[in-house]
Amino acid sequence: MKRVFITGVTGQDGAYLSALLLEKGYDVFGLVRRSSSADIVDAKLRWLNIHNDIRFVDGDVLDLSSLIRALRDVEPIEIYNLAAQSFVKSSWNQPLLTGQVTGLGAVNVLEAMRLAAPTARFYQASSSEMFGLVREPVQSESTPFYPRSPYGASKAFAHWMTTNYRESFHLHASNGILFNHESPVRGIEFVTRKVTDGAARIKLGLARELRLGNIDAQRDWGHSRDYVRAMWLMLQQDRPDDYVIATGRTTTVREMCRIAFQHVGLDAENHVKIDPDLFRPAEVDVLLGNPQKALAKLGWKPTISLEQMIEEMVDADMERWRQRMA
Ligand code: NDP
Ligand code: GDP
Repeated sequence: MKRVFITGVTGQDGAYLSALLLEKGYDVFGLVRRSSSADIVDAKLRWLNIHNDIRFVDGDVLDLSSLIRALRDVEPIEIYNLAAQSFVKSSWNQPLLTGQVTGLGAVNVLEAMRLAAPTARFYQASSSEMFGLVREPVQSESTPFYPRSPYGASKAFAHWMTTNYRESFHLHASNGILFNHESPVRGIEFVTRKVTDGAARIKLGLARELRLGNIDAQRDWGHSRDYVRAMWLMLQQDRPDDYVIATGRTTTVREMCRIAFQHVGLDAENHVKIDPDLFRPAEVDVLLGNPQKALAKLGWKPTISLEQMIEEMVDADMERWRQRMA
């Protein structure tokens, strides 16, 4: 049986990646940190109806010994490091924790791999947030980084440490520089999900307005289901490498809102209110990725449009609220 080890298995990508790997016949082991609400940490896996198919391993990316033990026990052939404090806005309030989990946490996983599973293949969840104040209008693997948040800076550190471990210790370690990707199990604090949940609540008469920050920001949004396929493809290559994963289309938050509200027959302009408290200390104004290398070398391209994804998310949030109200 092919065994795989995933950190961040309870997150959005952990759920979609697990579903993909189970489908491909892997035995999926996921690192789960101790929680006082253990009954709800697997909510995203439950949404995809795979919560009983994952084997949970107790541990934390901050605890190197737990990682070494986990890798010795599991003996995986592939390791996906998805664990992070992943919300940019919170990273200004918790910069040290973000550095520890999102930055050093990745090095802990690399160290554990070097010590306990050196022949495994490693995936690091790098981020388009590393491009920050963009140095080129379209970002590719060779675009310099200019992170604009503690989150972006922590991801840049983890990215270079992954490259360094690849070059120093000849580990099969790859960075996927993924642009924003969403789904019905995206964290509720991220703007797409906040908007689809807001549109659903307003449609059902549970709220009248939705407060947002900078709606002129632009993002290159794709679907998690497409993006986890790229992660897997990277680890199937003979040689480790870095890849940008993006759609090549950028859209404003304002336009994304219009799509979401229109799907339930509402006009976003009548409901979205701007709240200055939701602006960030430093903004990433626009992101737009060039996925040509992934297409050429991995044969990867996105299959789900922004419109399809937002509509799927609105429908899911409508259904969730209907169930809660029933
Ligand atoms: P989520 O925030 O949904 O998931 C983060 C995961 O990390 C959760 O499973 C969380 O566990 C886990 N985690 C947090 N802290 C620790 C810790 N100390 N030890 C072990 N696990 C921990 O993120 P996504 O699924 O959206 O993203 C996956 C990865 O990809 C992240 O690294 C993210 O930064 C990165 N990324 C995401 C992008 C996106 O648009 N989604 C874009 C580019 C990169 P718990 O459930 O207990 O909180
Ligand atoms: P990020 O790109 O990882 O920071 O993903 P987010 O979904 O959190 O934010 C995307 C963009 O939406 C950023 O430029 C935010 O400033 C902007 N945005 C505007 N209003 C909001 C809001 O209310 N919540 C969030 N999360 N982002 C917002």
